[in-house]
Amino acid sequence: MTENHRNHRALTLGYLVNQAGLAYIETDAKLRTRYWNKGAEALFGLSEDDVLGRHLNRVLEIDARTMNLLASEEGACSATLGSRERQIACRIRFTPIVGPSGTKEGTALLIRDVVETRARESRLNAKGQSMADILGFAPIGIFHASLDGNLVMANSEFAWMLGYESSDKAVHQVKDFVGQVFYDESKAEEFMFILMEAERITRFRCRLKRRDGSFIWTLCYAMVTRAGSGRVDGFNGYAIDIGDTIRAEKALQKANEELMRLSVIDGLTQIANRRQFDSHLNMEWRRHKKEQQPISVILCDIDFFKKYNDTYGHQVGDDCLKKVAGAIDDCAREASGLAARYGGEEFGVILPKTDAKAALSVAETIRKRVLSLGVEHQASEVNSCVTLSLGVGATVPEENDSDMGLLAQADTALYKAKKAGRNRAFAAGFVSS
Ligand code: GH3
Ligand code: MG
Ligand code: MG
Repeated sequence: MTENHRNHRALTLGYLVNQAGLAYIETDAKLRTRYWNKGAEALFGLSEDDVLGRHLNRVLEIDARTMNLLASEEGACSATLGSRERQIACRIRFTPIVGPSGTKEGTALLIRDVVETRARESRLNAKGQSMADILGFAPIGIFHASLDGNLVMANSEFAWMLGYESSDKAVHQVKDFVGQVFYDESKAEEFMFILMEAERITRFRCRLKRRDGSFIWTLCYAMVTRAGSGRVDGFNGYAIDIGDTIRAEKALQKANEELMRLSVIDGLTQIANRRQFDSHLNMEWRRHKKEQQPISVILCDIDFFKKYNDTYGHQVGDDCLKKVAGAIDDCAREASGLAARYGGEEFGVILPKTDAKAALSVAETIRKRVLSLGVEHQASEVNSCVTLSLGVGATVPEENDSDMGLLAQADTALYKAKKAGRNRAFAAGFVSS
């Protein structure tokens, strides 16, 4: 290397040292200051003129131990330097300056102020502490798990969710996150699959397993974390307790189902009500019109029911209605039909894909079934037990027909059955024995 090169490199290095804000000092063999750069001026508040030729010890009030160290070959140490008024915590690197003949001509020192570094560290520590406080106290579960399933960090809430009394206990005992934390195996697989594919997972509803084997409903979020090498090494997760939401949802769903049921069920007899009868007939009517299939309805009316009430009382009348409804419902089901309370002591049956003859046969079955209940009716003028009169309407729906016409047919047949002496079933064109 030529002298020129050497000088050039020295200048470059000097420039960089100044730029980096480092103090660079050179002394002679007796530790008298020989060079004092801008960084040193800025750090110690002394100009080169103030210090040149003076013993380093006088200039910077260096303690004996550090002085001894500086006399050694080369190394690094920490020391408090500066004047009595201005003490600065520093990190010093030093090395001998060797002349062309190989003898030590002095010492070079590179000094960095660590006050700012310490302040930054303590600011960071304070920030870290306050973040830890925030996370630790957060009302949602926060955790970090390693890829091999170790729970590395958990805040109090997450520990509580899993049934541990402290974060430390949770971290100590959870070594298989997938096996120990998820309540449903399939959910664990789904969670890990999405997390690994998408690297994050949001609004994932799942049950977490508590230490005592019970579960807690949660909404989970997670995001993979990476090691310095860029390789995925685990995941950070958040879990929100949604037990109250799930319970409210279930109660609402149950209430809705009950409401739905009540809206189509007759309160007294617990068979379909008039609303369901009408909507079902309407639907079946359109279907049968389209398919050109026969459809029938049967209207059933209890004979002398007013007298029944008068004889036995309204309460017993209600019980009778329930029994009769049950018998009609059974027969309708056997014939793949739907029975409903049509109103008062009247019942309707819808029979899909059934012509008048078959419907009349079902009506006969119903009449006999109700008679066979043997519900005593002393005031009846036709039998000693409760009886029914039934009217059948049947048709293959034509384009301009309506289901009202079908019902009118059945009503007319019922009227005829009553007129003919009750306890019988009538259909247009067919008369039962
Ligand atoms: P008919 O043989 O001509 O059908 O005579 P009926 O007495 O059965 O007919 P009517 O229409 O005169 O009387 C029907 C009776 O049904 C009157 C009413 O008190 C009774 N009824 C209607 N709904 C209920 C109910 O929910 N419970 C009770 N117990 N009786 C009811
Ligand atoms: Mg009636
Ligand atoms: Mg009646």
